[in-house]
Amino acid sequence: MDDKREPDDYKCQREAMVDRQIRARGVEDPRVLEAIGTVPRHLFVPDAHRTRSYDDTPLPTAEGQTISQPYIVAWMTELLRLKGNEVVLEIGAGSGYQAAILCLLARFVYTVERIGTLAESARRRLEGLGLTNFEVVVGDGTRGLPEHSPYQGIMVTAGAPRVPPLLLEQLADGGRLVIPVGSTTLQVLTVIEKNGDEMITSEEGSCVFVPLVGKDGWERER
Ligand code: SAH
Repeated sequence: MDDKREPDDYKCQREAMVDRQIRARGVEDPRVLEAIGTVPRHLFVPDAHRTRSYDDTPLPTAEGQTISQPYIVAWMTELLRLKGNEVVLEIGAGSGYQAAILCLLARFVYTVERIGTLAESARRRLEGLGLTNFEVVVGDGTRGLPEHSPYQGIMVTAGAPRVPPLLLEQLADGGRLVIPVGSTTLQVLTVIEKNGDEMITSEEGSCVFVPLVGKDGWERER
């Protein structure tokens, strides 16, 4: 990935972030730690908040949306258990930061975003980093993206009222879906693994995401 223009200062901040916010909280997968240590998060944060890019917090992006807290990105990514050869679907491209991490850990990443302007700037950021194994699609991700299914990993980065059935349908056998499920103000990070006809569900902990808005999500943003 092309990060030649990066000041050393950001690199130091990013290393500290990985140590103190992510490794310290129990994320162990070395590939995940390396990807988070590589992607220049400050390029995904709006100018007004750039100096806080490596802080232990989510940050506002355009259109009233957010870029998730670094630890949450790492935690959710680890839960997908990617080895490198997977085709992954993300719902909620937002800034594109989570997608950039996934691009380093999987073979190909489709990321769906309902807001066209966000999708466009996410695509430009990912291209700007020299990444080529992704496609940003504008649409309602509660329907998934059937044309490229099945996916070995699906990650939803917005809070859902329930698990959209079409996402389960588009999950490959042995694949994992990571999704925050709950109310608009608090969700439980839920993992569903597909094993033949069986779905194995585990609840990993609480989290707070902006609402998943769409046919199989919430009707509106709040
Ligand atoms: N993954 C992002 C953060 C996501 S914030 C990042 O790394 O920056 C949640 C995003 O989900 C928002 O951009 C919101 O517009 C989008 N979203 C909400 N409902 C959606 C839906 N039904 N389909 C696609 N995107 C959706």
